Amino acid sequence: MKDIAWSELSFGYMPTDYNVRCCYRNGKWGEIEVCSDEYIKLHMAATCLHYGQEAFEGLKAYRCPDGKVRVFRMEENAARLQSTCRGIMMPELPTDIFVEMVKKVVRLNQEYIPTYESGATLYIRPLLIGTSAQVGVRPAEEYMFIIFVTPVGPYFKGGFSTNPYVIVRDYDRSAPLGTGIYKVGGNYAASLRANHLAHEKGYACEFYLDAKEKKYMDECGAANFFGIKNNTYVTPKSTSILPSITNKSLMQLAEDFGMKVERRQIPEEELATFEEAGACGTAAVISPISYIDDIDTGQRFMFSEDGKPGPVSTKLYNHLRGIQYGTEEDKHGWTTVVIE
Ligand SMILES: *Cc1c(COP(=O)(O)O)cnc(C)c1O
Repeated sequence: MKDIAWSELSFGYMPTDYNVRCCYRNGKWGEIEVCSDEYIKLHMAATCLHYGQEAFEGLKAYRCPDGKVRVFRMEENAARLQSTCRGIMMPELPTDIFVEMVKKVVRLNQEYIPTYESGATLYIRPLLIGTSAQVGVRPAEEYMFIIFVTPVGPYFKGGFSTNPYVIVRDYDRSAPLGTGIYKVGGNYAASLRANHLAHEKGYACEFYLDAKEKKYMDECGAANFFGIKNNTYVTPKSTSILPSITNKSLMQLAEDFGMKVERRQIPEEELATFEEAGACGTAAVISPISYIDDIDTGQRFMFSEDGKPGPVSTKLYNHLRGIQYGTEEDKHGWTTVVIE
C-alpha cells in the first residue's frame, strides 16, 4: 500500500499509476491498452470538444474488512453507459469490455485502494469521448474509452449527517425530452451556475423542479431525490432525471424491509408531508436532507427536527454500505470481488 494519509483525503484528483483505454476505429472496438500517461493527445476538431460527445460513469472499489476488494453493480454502470451512447449517437461499449477494464484498472492500482478504517474508497471514472475530427454537426467516426481511478475521502467527514438544499427556478439542468436521462458532461455544464449560487448561499446543493411546469421535484445537480412517509419510499418519475443505481438499489432494499415503494411525480407541496428526505448517489450513498428552502416562495420544508438523519434513511444507508463492504448478506448479487 502507498504511504498516503487515507483518512485525510477529500473528493479530489490524485494521480495513480495506470489507466486503461480502448479505442473504436473502423467500426469496431480494439484491444485494451494499459497506459501510465495521464494525458491524451486529441485532435482539435474532435467532436467531444465541439459538440459534446462525451459520456461518463462513476463507481467505487471498496476495501472490505474481510480483506477482499469489491465493486458494486458495475454491470448496471455498463448498461447505463450503453444507454447514454444510444442517446448521443456513440457506439455502445460491450459490457464484457467494460467489466474487464474495471477489474484491470482496480487490480493495477491496488496500492491506491484506501484502508477500510479510513472510510475512503477508490473512485472509478469511466469516460467515453468522440475523438475524430468533424466540423459539420455529425457524430464522430472514432472514439476513445478510458477508465482512470483515484482515491477519494469519505463523503461524511464527521459521520453520516444532514445538509440543507435549495430549490432553484432560474435555471434548468435539462429539458423534459433532453439529455437529463443520460450521464453526459453537458448536463453538468448546464448546472454549474446554479450549483455555484447554491454553494454561495450556504446550501449543499441545488434542487431542480421539472423544467416545463416547475411543479414537480426532479433531482439535485448530481444525485436523485427520495422522501419517506407512512412506511413508503417515494422517488420522482421524470423524463429528465438520471437513473441512479444507488436509488434503484435503495428502492429494492426498502421493498426488502417491507416498505412500499412509489415512483411517481412529486409535487413540490408534498415535501411538507415527508418525515425524512435524502439525496442519493454513489458518492454519499445517502445524503440526508435537513431542509429544502424555496427562496422564491419563502417556504422551508423541514425533514429533521434535531438536525440528525432519520431512522429509515439511517437503516437504508447502513444496509447498503454493509452490502458494499461485504458485512451484510448480498442476496441480490450486487457485488463483484475484484481482488480476493
Ligand atoms: C451519476 C448521477 C447520479 C447518481 O447515480 P448513481 O448511479 O447512484 O451514482 C444522479 N444524478 C445525476 C445527474 C448523476 O449524474
